Amino acid sequence: MNKEDINSIKELLSSPKKIVIIPHKNPDGDAIGSTLGLLHYLKKYNHDAVIIAPNDYPDFLKWMPGEDSVLKYDHQKDECDALLISAELIFTLDFNSLGRIGNMEEAVANTKAIKIMIDHHQQPDDYAKFMYSDVSMSSTCEMVYNFIDMLDDTDKVDADIATCLYTGIMTDTGSFRFSSTTSATHKIIGNLIEKGANNSQIHNNIMDTNSYERTQLLGKALSNLKVIPEYRTAYITLTQDELNSFNFKKGDTEGFVNYGLSLKDIIFAAIFIESQQDGIIKISLRSKGDFSVNELSRSHFEGGGHTNAAGGKSDLNMSNTIDKFISILPQYKKDLKA
Ligand code: 5GP
Ligand code: MN
Repeated sequence: MNKEDINSIKELLSSPKKIVIIPHKNPDGDAIGSTLGLLHYLKKYNHDAVIIAPNDYPDFLKWMPGEDSVLKYDHQKDECDALLISAELIFTLDFNSLGRIGNMEEAVANTKAIKIMIDHHQQPDDYAKFMYSDVSMSSTCEMVYNFIDMLDDTDKVDADIATCLYTGIMTDTGSFRFSSTTSATHKIIGNLIEKGANNSQIHNNIMDTNSYERTQLLGKALSNLKVIPEYRTAYITLTQDELNSFNFKKGDTEGFVNYGLSLKDIIFAAIFIESQQDGIIKISLRSKGDFSVNELSRSHFEGGGHTNAAGGKSDLNMSNTIDKFISILPQYKKDLKA
C-alpha cells in the first residue's frame, strides 16, 4: 500500500460511508479481532459500519467488545445481502481469495463497493482496488494497527480497539512464539497494553475457558496421535463418532494440531477431522522451519495458508485420506528427512 493509496483511502473515509467488514469463513481470533478492531475505529468517524461473518465462530471468542453486533451470513442472508448491495466500501480481512468466504462469494463479487484487502496470507487474489497484503506479518490484527498508523491515527486507538487487536495477534502467533513474531509485533503489543488491553485477562478468556468435554476430547486426540519418525511427521485423526461422543462444539479442536509439533524432532504435524455435515475431512497442517505446508496443501488438499500454518480438505473417507497423506510424504523427503 503506497502513499497514493493511503491518501485515496483517507479521502474515502473523510465523510461517513456505508461499510461492510468481512472475515473468512470459520473465523478465528485474528479474523474476529481484526474485523472488530477496524469496526470500532471506523465507528469513531460515524461510518455506518457492520461486520458480516460467513458463519458462526467458537464461544471462546464471544466476549470481545462489540462481538454481539457481528451478523452471520448463513443465518441472516437477506439482511446481509441488502447491506452488501448498498455498501460503498467493503473491507476484506484475514483472507486472500473470495473463495474463503464460502456462500458469500457471489454476493461480494457482484457488489459495486470499493474493496480494500488487509491480509497476510500467501498468493493473494486480485479482487480489491486497494491491497495491503504482507505475508511477513504475524497477523491481520498487527496490519490493522499499521493501517491505523498509516492513517496517522494511533491516537484514536482506545481500550476496545486495543483489546480486539491484542487478541488476534496473540492467537495468530501462538502467544507470541511463532517465527512471524517480530520486535515490531512486540512494540505494537506494548502500545496496545498501554491503550488498555488487559493482557492477562485476554489470555484467560481465550485459553482458560475450556469445557470438561473439550479437555476430554483433547485426551482422545492425543491417544490417536501417530508418529512417522523417518519423515519427522506426526498426525492426529478425529472421526465424527469420536467428536460426537465428546459433544463436540465449534472451536473445540482449535490448537490440537500443535501437540504434534511439540514432539522432539517433529517438524510437520497434521490433524484430520471428519465433518459429516460438510462431507469432507477438514485438514490443518503445521510445520517448523522452511517446509511449506501452504505448498503441500495447495498441491494435494485444495487449501492454502502460510508457510508454517495451512488448511485444506479431502473428499475421501478418513482411512483413504490418511493413505493419501502418507503416500505423498516421499515427495517431500528433501525437507522432511533428517
Ligand atoms: P487452521 O488450520 O487454523 O484452520 O488454518 C491455518 C491457516 O490456513 C489459516 O491462516 C487459515 O486461514 C488457512 N486455511 C485454513 N483452511 C484453509 C483452506 O481450506 N483454504 C485456504 N486457502 N486456506 C486455509
Ligand atoms: Mn490471520
